[in-house]
Amino acid sequence: MSKRRLAILGSTGSIGTQTLDVVSKHPDLFEVELLTAYSNTSLLVEQAIKFNANAVVICDEMRYKEVQAALVNHDIKVFAGTDSIESLVQGSNIDIVVTAMVGFSGLKPTLSAIKAGKIIALANKETLVVAGEMVTALAAKSGSAIIPVDSEHSAIFQCLQGERAEIEKIILTASGGPFLHKSKKDLEKVTVEEALNHPKWQMGAKVSIDSASMMNKGLELIEAYWLFKQPVEKIEIIIHPQSIIHSMVQFTDGSISAQMSTPDMRLPIQYAITYPYRIDLDTARIDFTKLGKLDFIVPDREKFRAIDIAYKSITKGGNTPCAMNAANEIAVASFLNGEIPFTYIPEIIEEVISKFHYIEKPTLDNIYETDLQARELAIKHKIKLKK
Ligand code: MG
Repeated sequence: MSKRRLAILGSTGSIGTQTLDVVSKHPDLFEVELLTAYSNTSLLVEQAIKFNANAVVICDEMRYKEVQAALVNHDIKVFAGTDSIESLVQGSNIDIVVTAMVGFSGLKPTLSAIKAGKIIALANKETLVVAGEMVTALAAKSGSAIIPVDSEHSAIFQCLQGERAEIEKIILTASGGPFLHKSKKDLEKVTVEEALNHPKWQMGAKVSIDSASMMNKGLELIEAYWLFKQPVEKIEIIIHPQSIIHSMVQFTDGSISAQMSTPDMRLPIQYAITYPYRIDLDTARIDFTKLGKLDFIVPDREKFRAIDIAYKSITKGGNTPCAMNAANEIAVASFLNGEIPFTYIPEIIEEVISKFHYIEKPTLDNIYETDLQARELAIKHKIKLKK
């Protein structure tokens, strides 16, 4: 494998730091060119120095001087503002762009990297949720490869390697999150701490809450739809609490391929940046004799309403998933702030989906308008519910 030059967008977050952990173990294989962070200046500076980055972007412009001062004695360029990422990711010094920022903000820089034909290690699932049609069409045009980082999608991608077969079914596995064994009624009283306490994965706050509501699986359903171009009826969600199988593909001869490993995000991250190669990784190995059994459970769609919301959204199509995503981002942030109970999350999303302005073939401008409108509707409904 020849050396790969990376841009890591969102380098101080959970996926970003784990990407750098992979890089640190194989300094001969990777070069860090660009690191970007929203506001964590101290970690961004530390990473930039340690990995001798060519440039950094601090998205919060108020913090530019602080970063610049900290890097004044280093040969590292400093930029401020999210907009500057768009041109930097197109640089000829970059081979792979790891998109690990949170939420809707990942869209523009990802589009920009795709336009420049970069390899995308896609960790920002919202990009495909809000603009899947546009993103995949643009990638097909520019020849940009989109390699999933999300563990389930990496599993599906790995299962498809070398196959020329028709897919009969994609089985998207879910851990079930921290509330798998709680009743629908119990969910009304769960706390932020409980929701953040995921049994299997260490993740950022947004995706942890999404896992607890199972909206994460809803977003992943839409992500899978765009990545693998399969009708949504062929994508099935199954709860597998041990998180050993990370998803499966069933072929028309009845054969099923599964990708398995102990849950460790560094594996799909590493595979995305080394693809099609595999290199060493010190994950804990599976011992099947100790594992005993693997469980599979049909998700309770009454309790986890987010699953049906996501199926409906992608079936309706157009800008519906974009509105769904925006409403979810507002609802999750409100829950994290302690403003609303956990069960208001799907309620807010459903309300927004019933009210937003539907567009069948949204342009990029339409996507931005939809995002804004859905956020406003979500905030309005949140205020109404609180009264
Ligand atoms: Mg996932």
